[in-house]
Amino acid sequence: MPWSFSKIVSKLRGTSTATELDWDELQTDLISADLGPRLSSLLIEEAKKIKGEDALGSLREILSNHLSKKSRSINRADGTTAIMVVGVNGTGKTTSVARLAHLFKSENSSVVLAAADTFRAAAIEQLSTWADRVGVEVVVGGAKADPASVAFDGAKRSVELQSDYLIIDTAGRLHNKSDLMDELTKIRRVVEKSVPLSEVLLVIDATTGQNGIAQAKIFSQAVAVTGLIVTKLDGSARGGVALAIEDELDIPIKFVGLGESEKDFAPFVTDMYIDGLIN
Ligand code: GDP
Ligand code: GDP
Ligand code: MG
Repeated sequence: MPWSFSKIVSKLRGTSTATELDWDELQTDLISADLGPRLSSLLIEEAKKIKGEDALGSLREILSNHLSKKSRSINRADGTTAIMVVGVNGTGKTTSVARLAHLFKSENSSVVLAAADTFRAAAIEQLSTWADRVGVEVVVGGAKADPASVAFDGAKRSVELQSDYLIIDTAGRLHNKSDLMDELTKIRRVVEKSVPLSEVLLVIDATTGQNGIAQAKIFSQAVAVTGLIVTKLDGSARGGVALAIEDELDIPIKFVGLGESEKDFAPFVTDMYIDGLIN
């Protein structure tokens, strides 16, 4: 990450020359790292109050206080654990569905996918290709099928197979909040005829910065989001966005996407994340 909190650390340690680096400049840096104006000022105010030897420890604590305290593991159900993946078009939902399937399979769990993004034929093909590659079953519907009916069939199939996981891919291109809410509520309702939904994971593209946070707010108002997946953190100079998202939404980031393959995916570990910001 080209940008980091190292400037603040050196300022706190007194190893930077005050003339070259003032707090205003640091605040500008924070904003350009996509922390947003509000969180940036707050962090500067808090950093200014740090006194004593352990400046690094204090900064670490400040940063971790802005991260969610909620659990970052997947909520497991007694039977099939059903996960719905939602988010704006292009953020990486389908890729994330494939990556979760790959992860669960590598833990020897069985997985069924439901291709409930029925808006484009290509989206169904994309998920089917991933399913073949990862080696899991995928339930698809006919062209322009009702997304809820595909989700319903997927849920039924996963109960039949007693699969450990059902992962539902959804469309992101709904016109307004009420359409979005209607579609996602309907999917939930029909899935829950067979299996309760354990997780609603919202995918956010890190490269969209503050705009991604605004989208996340709309989604979390439309549906009860239980966790986040932040994609495209590779090649993004804006690693600060994860902190801004959690500070804003208080929804835990459960996984991060770090590239385009199914393996470029990892659980979000707060200590590692803060290390990455500071060092
Ligand atoms: P969807 O429309 O939300 O289903 O998004 P897709 O899963 O189809 O992904 C859109 C594009 O983003 C694809 O080209 C993916 O390969 C790419 N993508 C997804 N996750 C990541 C990531 O973590 N890093 C990078 N560099 N690209 C990603
Ligand atoms: P709609 O009013 O016809 O859209 O029906 P719902 O909102 O109840 O469910 C949406 C879709 O899920 C339906 O079109 C069916 O494909 C499927 N579905 C929901 N409930 C059932 C059910 O009890 N049995 C079957 N076979 N399909 C169901
Ligand atoms: Mg997709």
